[in-house]
Amino acid sequence: MRAIVKTHRAPGLELQEVPEPTCGPTDILIRVRHAGVCGTDLHIADWDEWAQGRVKPPVVVGHEFAGEVVDMGKEAAGQFQKGQTVTAEGHIVCGHCRQCRTGNGHICRFTQIIGVDRNGAFADYIAMPASNVMPLDGIPTTTGAIMDPLGNAFHTVLSPDIAGSTVLVLGCGPIGCFAVGIARAAGAARVIASDVNPVRLELARRMGAQVPLNAAQEDVVARVLSETRGEGADLVCEMSGHPSALKQAFGAVRLGGRVHLLGLPKGEVGLNLSNDLIFKGVTVYGVIGRKMFETWNQMRSFLSSGLLDPTPVVTHRFPLANIDGALEAIRSGAAGKVILEIGG
Ligand SMILES: [Zn+2]
Ligand SMILES: [Zn+2]
Repeated sequence: MRAIVKTHRAPGLELQEVPEPTCGPTDILIRVRHAGVCGTDLHIADWDEWAQGRVKPPVVVGHEFAGEVVDMGKEAAGQFQKGQTVTAEGHIVCGHCRQCRTGNGHICRFTQIIGVDRNGAFADYIAMPASNVMPLDGIPTTTGAIMDPLGNAFHTVLSPDIAGSTVLVLGCGPIGCFAVGIARAAGAARVIASDVNPVRLELARRMGAQVPLNAAQEDVVARVLSETRGEGADLVCEMSGHPSALKQAFGAVRLGGRVHLLGLPKGEVGLNLSNDLIFKGVTVYGVIGRKMFETWNQMRSFLSSGLLDPTPVVTHRFPLANIDGALEAIRSGAAGKVILEIGG
């Protein structure tokens, strides 16, 4: 089969012919139709410091995908049908650590990520543990392919109840734009979104941000305060990892509000914990992955009921062989979500 492979410890990715994965007794073999390309793939392609410390080539990359069931192992039989369209949680967890056994598999100590720690989805076929596979129930595979980052956004936005609240989204990459749409769909009264990239701000506006703010031209904290009668935002979703956005997050959150952190800062970050967090009574939540499997069920119901349409965020499609074009579109900063068309 065809696959995009990180072949050796250096920049670049290669399209190769590799053997089809074997379908173990508890696995589902899936023919991939669509796959999402993301910043993680870019880090692996560019072979940055994070990738050097984590990835062990050769490995098939790609962790966001959807496709159709073509085979299943003996112990997975009966749960799925051949031809059924599915997506899958790309974090494969151990099932027996303390976190897994308390319903917190998203912070499993032994998590293996497809396309990072084991072979991934930029390929004609992938074998996944049946327990990770989610039926799409009519949701198209183009949307199924982005349910991994969409789930990050659901996890960020919907951990508390946000009906009627003011939500500030800092950073309008694909996950930030999804967060804007989810906040609106879940009944936030006001969604303020900030970025320095006008293309991304326009996407955020299309996803329903009532107040798009260009952080390069406006004082984000002052504007949020003026939009909220001086109170600040109930929930701040920090999606950029940029130090100045982190400062804005704590400046713009209201007393007793919440700051949910998804963006990954490069190094250590200076914060005035006394004034910005403790005296304000702020709750901070680190967002990793998707809750297994509350987030997936939540997401499926928002998508299949039509409450949320994430498709405006998908701006580019490429064939599998043009992975370099897909990565270039992400690098340019002019793309929302980029997907690969692989089969079907
Ligand atoms: Zn991703
Ligand atoms: Zn575990």
